[in-house]
Amino acid sequence: MENLKTMNRFIKLLLLAILVNFQIANAQQAPCGSDEYWKQKAAKNPALEKARQESDLYTESIQNATFKTVPDTQTLTIPIVFHIISTAGHQVKTTLSNCQDQIKRLNEDYSATNADTSNIRRIFKSRLGDAHIRFFLATKGPDGNPTTGVTYDTSILTYQANDSVKSVIDWDHNFYLNVWVVSNINSGSATPGTDIAGYSTFPWDGLVNTKTDGIVIDHSFVGYTTDRTLSHEIGHFLGLYHTFQDGCTGGDKVDDTPPVASANIGKCNSWPTSDTTINTCHNDAPDLPDMLENIMDYASCKVMFTQGQVTRMRTYLTTNRVSLYYNNNVAGIQNTANINQAAISIYPNPALQKFELEASGLSAGKSIHIKCYDMMGRLQFDEAAVADNEGTLSRQLDASLIIPGVYKIALYEGNEVIAVKALVKE
Ligand SMILES: [Zn+2]
Repeated sequence: MENLKTMNRFIKLLLLAILVNFQIANAQQAPCGSDEYWKQKAAKNPALEKARQESDLYTESIQNATFKTVPDTQTLTIPIVFHIISTAGHQVKTTLSNCQDQIKRLNEDYSATNADTSNIRRIFKSRLGDAHIRFFLATKGPDGNPTTGVTYDTSILTYQANDSVKSVIDWDHNFYLNVWVVSNINSGSATPGTDIAGYSTFPWDGLVNTKTDGIVIDHSFVGYTTDRTLSHEIGHFLGLYHTFQDGCTGGDKVDDTPPVASANIGKCNSWPTSDTTINTCHNDAPDLPDMLENIMDYASCKVMFTQGQVTRMRTYLTTNRVSLYYNNNVAGIQNTANINQAAISIYPNPALQKFELEASGLSAGKSIHIKCYDMMGRLQFDEAAVADNEGTLSRQLDASLIIPGVYKIALYEGNEVIAVKALVKE
């Protein structure tokens, strides 16, 4: 009897040990901290959560519009800068070549030309989306000089990195996608002590917290890797949620990804045999299995975005993040001579009614458009103007017709955004 009790206790302990080990193993695999970092920011600033909800509603209302200012098949290009942050005790050996390999991976994933799309199950093949988005290493730095698109800095903030690493170096988020490459990353408060592969800011956050807008990535995940860490994080950067967002009844605001109850961490180990039966939600009709192939889940067979996800990303890129892409594509970047010289000042700012806008560094005599966008990327006004012979511009504008909030004032030369400044309306 006593032996039996001891045996029972032993079995219980053994089961507990297995359970604990299982949980630790799972925790160590958590690839993405975007939700945790978002929750921390939203808890500190309730206005951010309101902005997220409004942004969702607005994006849903325009993403299915039949008329689009930018055609779905027009290629949009985004310049990336990789900031390599290293220190003696925590070396990060990411090279230019690693970054170039990473760009290659991104461009395959965002054009649906990655070879492993052949692994997509037949039921999901027709949902594969080509985002028509391309990435390239920035060719011109904020100082106007040529750059490789890779910078190197030394800081201890590379260790257990969080948003503070972004204070080491950041390039204007209106014109560059900043990617900080670090030794390792602090996961945030939810699962302390575990490492994550990367995290990104969302578009509704980046408009407000301009100095922290971008992506932090663990150096081991940069290159032509199969884990798709940066492809996944850029999905968040362009407004995508995880496919398991808020479980079966919540959703990722995208119609063609089946609902998923919770993250399929590390699934696909036995792909494509037993894992194909995983179906955690049955409230969809037809009732489809979890899309383990999706880049916005955590499975190890991430190979695709859907057409719905592509529409959502392009909606954010052509509104909220409009200054990041250039209508003239990769070759066009060579012509954007003014991007790093043009500057705007606004006063008073915050403004109540009338405010003065002064711009410099413009092309003499060129036509300019002054456009004002709200937090959701909605155009509020568009004023035509002409730069004088000194390449400057002075204009009084009226903020009395817009509601209190944060706005983005963008100067356009033709289709190109050449300068951006935040305006706060009281
Ligand atoms: Zn994620």
